[in-house]
Amino acid sequence: MSKYVAAIDQGTTSTRCMIFDQDGAVVAVAQTEHDQIFPKAGWVEHNAIQIWDNTRKVCAEAMAHGDISTSDVAAIGITNQRETTVVWDKTTGQPVYNAIVWQDTRTDKICQQLAGDEGADRFKAKVGLPLATYFAGPKARWVLDNVEGAREKAEAGDLLFGTMDTWLMWNLTGGVDGGIHVTDVTNASRTLMMDLATLDWDDDIVAEMGLPKSMLPEIKSSSEVYANARDKGVFAGVPLGGILGDQQAATFGQVCFEPGMAKNTYGTGNFVLLNTGEEQVLSKNGLLTTVCYKIGDSKPIYALEGSIAVTGSLVQWLRDNLQIIKAAPEVEDLARSVEDNGDVYVVPAFSGLFAPHWRSDARGAIVGLTRFANKGHIARAALEAVAFQSKEVVDAMNADSGVDLTELKVDGGMVVNDTLMQFQADLLGVPVVRPKITETTALGAAYAAGLAVGFWKDESDLTKQWAEDKRWEPQMDGAERDRLVRKWNKAVQRTLDWVE
Ligand code: ADP
Repeated sequence: MSKYVAAIDQGTTSTRCMIFDQDGAVVAVAQTEHDQIFPKAGWVEHNAIQIWDNTRKVCAEAMAHGDISTSDVAAIGITNQRETTVVWDKTTGQPVYNAIVWQDTRTDKICQQLAGDEGADRFKAKVGLPLATYFAGPKARWVLDNVEGAREKAEAGDLLFGTMDTWLMWNLTGGVDGGIHVTDVTNASRTLMMDLATLDWDDDIVAEMGLPKSMLPEIKSSSEVYANARDKGVFAGVPLGGILGDQQAATFGQVCFEPGMAKNTYGTGNFVLLNTGEEQVLSKNGLLTTVCYKIGDSKPIYALEGSIAVTGSLVQWLRDNLQIIKAAPEVEDLARSVEDNGDVYVVPAFSGLFAPHWRSDARGAIVGLTRFANKGHIARAALEAVAFQSKEVVDAMNADSGVDLTELKVDGGMVVNDTLMQFQADLLGVPVVRPKITETTALGAAYAAGLAVGFWKDESDLTKQWAEDKRWEPQMDGAERDRLVRKWNKAVQRTLDWVE
């Protein structure tokens, strides 16, 4: 009897392999970062080959750390940075261009052209998304338009399109030697090309996107045995049983199985997802409609999502670009070195503004500077920006759903930051709750894979495993909260319309 389930978490900054036992406890982990490639302002790329190499490396390391053999692993789940797009040649296994990352804004013109006179919400009723640089379809289009020979090869059926789940799955199942070309409903729901009702590619939109249908992967559920891992390598023959985009995986790992349950993940960006059950709720307030998960043959479960492009990566920017901290955790001490934000606001519109604004033409700003302001105020304002942006999307969610959130479950790399979590509770006016296992993204992928092979019986098996670690109660008075939000809104206004 196998004792473990493995999860491959292919994130924006790093790739991890985590191995979980039946109780959902982590028994082994290995992680490695990959290069962030910034060829021009607004462009962000990853090397897909490096990511595949790292994936193999971290899987082998995690297995070695835990003294785990292949026969101990019941199934493997994959979770991934969503929307990041690779196009590769199926005859050589080589990408024709670097992976274009979700934060990349190069497809601004393509999106505008596709929007035409009908506007950015042209496909929204079908796909749940506005036309924005964030999503995968236009990124694949950019590759065909700009890489020499790519369109001809694509038309000839030699090129494959995929998000990172698809790329890893193809390689894990043999690559040029019979790799399978699949994705799951959650990742497909981020391409701008999947019909949310049929869970299939929409032929008209695919044609408008200018992609040959032969490039697109087959869309599967989030939890089923897709294939076994190729017979070479550390996971030889183990069933691949789960695929979930990272934010959906975190929602699953937070056991948000009931309509009305929501989580906020604080990673490179922030992503609030609210389970809306079998109902697709179309947002009137700048949120996305997306597939939350689909377990095997069961009906799909949908979510409303508020995506924020820059949160943890703002802390990285303080570290790498301003160099006012040496490591991310130092931001908290620096923020605490001052009493308050000193009336300084940072709006990190580095990739434009995502939800609820959807303004690709916004650019970042630090406002309210006086001779008094120092790096402590900037650090504080950076942390506060994370919470302000999260409040914007929670407010939008309350407006769309007509029900106010009563508490917010949180996870991700930033939730160790007490100052941020307290400020978040203060701004929202509801408690913020952190679970014992904050690696909910990997856990969610493991859950999906484990369900597919009967390692866990059903969702109720998983719900029992969720345990609270810490809770932050709101302490700020309402007038102060209103004043801060008013200032934040003014600061946001100053970032709009910068691009000419
Ligand atoms: P991802 O999965 O998107 O790669 P993680 O969930 O691992 O991201 O979170 C990493 C992010 O958290 C980084 O952007 C980093 O700047 C930020 N971070 C890490 N520790 C802290 C901290 N103590 N305070 C604030 N931010 C932090």
